[in-house]
Amino acid sequence: MTLAKKDLNKALEILSKDAVVFAPTFDMIEDPSEGGQTMGEKKFMPYKEGMFIALDGPNTVKPPKDVLFPNVEKMYRYKTGENAEIVEIFPEDTKKILFGIRPCDARSIEAMDKVFFTKDYVDSYYAKRRENVVIVSMGCVEPERTCFCDSMGLDPNNAPNADVMMNVAKDSVDAFILEAYTDKGKELLEQLKDLDGGAGEAKRDVKCSLQINKDPELDKKLAGMFEHPIWDKITKGCIGCGTCTFVCPTCYCFDIDNENYGAEGCKYRCWDSCMFSDYTRMAGGANPRPTKKERLRNRYMHKLSYFNERYGETLCVGCGRCVANCPSHLDISEFIEKATAADPNAETYTDAPGKEA
Ligand code: SF4
Ligand code: SF4
Repeated sequence: MTLAKKDLNKALEILSKDAVVFAPTFDMIEDPSEGGQTMGEKKFMPYKEGMFIALDGPNTVKPPKDVLFPNVEKMYRYKTGENAEIVEIFPEDTKKILFGIRPCDARSIEAMDKVFFTKDYVDSYYAKRRENVVIVSMGCVEPERTCFCDSMGLDPNNAPNADVMMNVAKDSVDAFILEAYTDKGKELLEQLKDLDGGAGEAKRDVKCSLQINKDPELDKKLAGMFEHPIWDKITKGCIGCGTCTFVCPTCYCFDIDNENYGAEGCKYRCWDSCMFSDYTRMAGGANPRPTKKERLRNRYMHKLSYFNERYGETLCVGCGRCVANCPSHLDISEFIEKATAADPNAETYTDAPGKEA
C-alpha cells in the first residue's frame, strides 16, 4: 500500500487504538535558559497524538530492544519468612507495535529470538512480549557515517524478519510504500486500508556510509586468535564504561537480584555488561577476565565468532552505535578490518608500516 507522508500521524492514531505504538521521536527536555524546552535525544517513545515522527536522519542513540527486553524488569513479588510464597508474577502482555525500526535493529531481534527461544529453552518473559509485538521496519534514508550493516551481510533497505516493510516511494519523497511480510503485518495494513493511496514501487537503493573489508570467514579466523597480540593493541584507551553494551541492539546479558521490604520482596532482572569487572568476578574474589584486554576480547569474540559457532550468524549487525558513542573512540569496524588483514600466527602486531604495537 502507499501511505502519504501527511497521513503518517493519522496512521499511528489508528494503530494506537488497540496497541502501544513505539515510534522514533525527539525527547523534549525542560530548559529554562531556552525559555521552555529544548530538543534532546532521538529515541523510541510511545506515540501520543500529534507526536513528531523522526523516520529519517540518524538512527536512535539507544536501540528499541528494551520494548522486548527492558533495562530493568520486575519478574515476581513474594512473601518472605514462614509464609514465604510467590504472590504475583509479572508477565507483560500488552500489544505493542515497534514502528519505524531500522533493518539492523530488526535483525537484532532475530538474534535475540535465537537466544531466548532456541536450544530447548524459552524465556517466558521475553516470549510473552515477543508474541505481542508487531515489527514495522523502515528502510534507511540517510545512513550515519558509522553505519556498516551491508558489510555485515544486511540490507539497509530491507528487513526480512519484519511484519511490515516500509520504504520511501521511488517516485515521491512524500509517500511511503508498505508491504506486509507476515499475517500480523497483513492485519496491521488492513487497519490502514482507508489511507491506502494504491500500489507503488519502493525506493531501495541506499548503501551504508561506511564500507569495510571483512573476511567472510572472520569467525573461524578469530577462533584461532585468542592469544593474538592484536588484543593488547586494540584495548588501549578503553575505560570500561559499558556504553558499548548499553547502546548495542544485540547485547542481551542480564543479572537477576532481589529487593526485600520487610516481609515482602521483588525479584527483578536488569541488563549487565561483560565490560564490567564484576561481571565475571567469583564469590572467592577470583576473576577469569581480570583486565580490560580480556573483557574487550570477550565482547568482540562474542559478536564476531562465538555467536557464529552457536547460532550460525554474526552478532554484530553493523548499526555503528558503539562506534559513535564510545567515549574513547574504540571502533569495532576498525577492529574487523585489522583482524581481517592480520597474520593469525603473528607474535607481535603492527598495524601501520614502521609502527610497532
Ligand atoms: S564504550 Fe568504549 S570505553 Fe566504554 S567500555 Fe565500551 S569500548 Fe570501553
Ligand atoms: S557491536 Fe556495535 S556496531 Fe555491532 S551491533 Fe553492537 S552496537 Fe552495533
